[in-house]
Amino acid sequence: KPRLRFAPSPTGYLHLGGLRTALFNHLFAKRYGGTWVLRIEDTDQKRLVPGSIDSLIETLHWSKLEYDEGPDKAGSYGPYIQSERLEIYARYAERLLKEGKAYRDFRGESNITHSGKRDMVFRENYLPPDEDEARQLIRDGKPFVVRLKAETRPTDHEDLVYGRINFPADPLKYGTEDPILLKSNGWPTYHLANVVDDHEMGITHVLRGEEWLPSLPKHLWLYRALGLTPPKFAHLPLLINPDGTKLSKRTGDVKVEDYRSRGFEPEALNNFVALMGYNHHRSRDQAESGLNSQGKGKTGKKVEMDDGEVMSMEELISGFEISKVTQSRAAVSLPKLFFLNSRHMTRKLEDPTPNGGRDDIVSRVRPLLEEEFPEVAQLPDDRIVKIVQLTKGTSETLKDVPKSSAILFKTPSWSDPEPKSLFERNPKMSNLYLESIRALRRALNEKGSDAVLDDLGELNKMLRNLGEDLVGEGSSKEERKEEDERALLGQGKKGAKKRSNVMVPLRFALTATDKGPTLAELINFLGKEEVLKRLEQAES
Ligand code: GLU
Repeated sequence: KPRLRFAPSPTGYLHLGGLRTALFNHLFAKRYGGTWVLRIEDTDQKRLVPGSIDSLIETLHWSKLEYDEGPDKAGSYGPYIQSERLEIYARYAERLLKEGKAYRDFRGESNITHSGKRDMVFRENYLPPDEDEARQLIRDGKPFVVRLKAETRPTDHEDLVYGRINFPADPLKYGTEDPILLKSNGWPTYHLANVVDDHEMGITHVLRGEEWLPSLPKHLWLYRALGLTPPKFAHLPLLINPDGTKLSKRTGDVKVEDYRSRGFEPEALNNFVALMGYNHHRSRDQAESGLNSQGKGKTGKKVEMDDGEVMSMEELISGFEISKVTQSRAAVSLPKLFFLNSRHMTRKLEDPTPNGGRDDIVSRVRPLLEEEFPEVAQLPDDRIVKIVQLTKGTSETLKDVPKSSAILFKTPSWSDPEPKSLFERNPKMSNLYLESIRALRRALNEKGSDAVLDDLGELNKMLRNLGEDLVGEGSSKEERKEEDERALLGQGKKGAKKRSNVMVPLRFALTATDKGPTLAELINFLGKEEVLKRLEQAES
């Protein structure tokens, strides 16, 4: 059974990239009946940010990524925080020293000839002291670091994502420099702690960001020096901004916390990051050979809005295959997130189980709505559901629902110059505007029974007739029917266009805007009395 781990350093908030790593570990583990561990890598004490462990755990919890073992979840491989495991690392370092695979370096920072990067040093310049000398130096209180003797031949690696990689023995990059295992304060470096823990915790597969690939040779040397079989590695392609630059705090929202407070559904955010550097539809062979279709979304932008990519956690798990991870970097595209969010909201509204999706949405949106419109306190849950449904098209997240709902709770403001000027510029339209209002008032008074108002189909029929009566002049009833049929078959737009001539002015009359729910939905929601009231106001 596979065992995986997510091993963040508590240096701040969980970022999108971290969420993607955690998610892929989760998906891999669950797909193959395995487990995953949350391990906190806090050995670089200088970079610690207070509170970040709690916030990390809280964010993972919100994302519904439940690890099997971790700092707050007992398991037989603990403790799961590296600062509580220092003696384990010291033991391993001791073993390497005894076997002559590591040495103590007493030169001190200022006497070291650096080869370009910090903490990387040529061994050739230094003859480590023998055991006796070393003991004397330690007694004298001389500080030292423990270094691993690096391998001087090229290192081969078979990555689950990048395939065969050969790290040349380039001294400036990975070569003959000796990585530090223990720092002068006795704490391990990331490399030692990471390798020791992956072994100690029985990790079989390491899924982590591409940025760790350059560290891999050191890790492989360590495994070999310790006589251990390394786990399998899958490095996940970096997330980038749409302009190709590295995703960073400066360039946009990278904190998962920010997406949460903007009101995104965790299911949507998971779905979003699950598709980053991952081709859900194809295996890697197909994707990399250029067969990958880049369809155009509804907006005409190059963003794929593919309903086949809308997936729940269960669907993500059952479809997960490491061979679908791409080697190319993944751009973060917000339009896609909005699309996924809307789809997941719909899915949740359709889940009626107690404490399920629908209840979740209602309990989160109700207080937001009440803040704006106190009368919401009186409304039953299904009315709240309806409000969310009607305003979904004009809301990017649940947080926008109150703003989008204004047209449902407040009579439109006619002082708003926008709709007026539109009609004033086009007197013919304006005429139609008044005619449409009168026609709807008449129709509602004559045929607007509860049965009709409660039935969107009936309402639409009523509005269709209204439209035909008003704008159908010039063509016979037969011709209009034919046009309508053609329009329905998608073969011509004339009939549909004529009707929308009534829909547009009536929508303005009722809401003072051209966005939002359909006219039938609006009338159905507002009810006869309110609609008549608004029409009267709009006419005067
Ligand atoms: N502690 C590293 C990080 O903060 C983990 C690297 C790894 O997964 O090996 O990302």
